[in-house]
Amino acid sequence: MKRYLLFLIAGLTIIGVSAQPQQTQQSQQKQQKQDQQQPQQQVQPQQQQSQQTKKPVDPYRMTPGMMEIWDPEIQIIKPGATNNEPPSDAIVLFDGTDVNKEWEDTRGNPSKWIVKDGALISVKGSGFIQTKRKFSNIQLHIEWKTPSEVTGESQGRGNSGVFLQERYELQILDSYNNRTYRHGQAGSIYKQFPPLVNASKGPGEWQTYDIIYTAPTFSKDSLLYFTPPRITVLHNGVLIQNNVSLAGPTDYTKIPQAFIKAHGPGSLQLQDHGNPVAFRNIWIREL
Ligand code: MG
Repeated sequence: MKRYLLFLIAGLTIIGVSAQPQQTQQSQQKQQKQDQQQPQQQVQPQQQQSQQTKKPVDPYRMTPGMMEIWDPEIQIIKPGATNNEPPSDAIVLFDGTDVNKEWEDTRGNPSKWIVKDGALISVKGSGFIQTKRKFSNIQLHIEWKTPSEVTGESQGRGNSGVFLQERYELQILDSYNNRTYRHGQAGSIYKQFPPLVNASKGPGEWQTYDIIYTAPTFSKDSLLYFTPPRITVLHNGVLIQNNVSLAGPTDYTKIPQAFIKAHGPGSLQLQDHGNPVAFRNIWIREL
């Protein structure tokens, strides 16, 4: 009997000991199976991402956000109460009062032009006036009026001019029922570009020019433009010069191309051509 019990205990012991490793092997196999599955689950997104980065970007299938630029934010200014009034970032060159604050004659002396009833009026024989400041690329608003009493004809009637950078004249003339050569009438770039249309008002009426001017750049030899001066003009709100490229300085007799000479920023000038042309509400924005 004792011998039988000993065999039984020994047998159970053997079964108990041998059963434990079997369970461990099963759990290990199960863990290995899980481990094999888990890494596959983790790697899968990386593989997808890798495939995405390798995929060439289709410029016609960009998301809206990819095409949005937010910074720096555009500068906020306050526009004028009307389109003729200066916005908050404009330099007012004449507000109807003191001409000598911003202007002088071409020798640097006080101007002899007169201010009457809020208007600046050219005086025959006193010469051009020019801004004390010098400018390059600009937006300019200027209002002008030829004499209500009509005298003279062609170039002799209400002649003045806006000279950009002291060299490039936008013609002012009484072109209301007053024929003259095409590229010499009101709104012409003198002797280079006639206006697209004649948008003139009658003598004695206030008229407006809104001018966008891009200054030239120069090649090394300074006798050629690298990029020519360009002018856009609205006359009484009507487009009359559409981004024209100038051939050179404007002049009565000189060929423009022959007189190109490198220059930097220049004054804005108003012409004394012997006629009492009036000006008001002149403001400028540097671009
Ligand atoms: Mg003129």
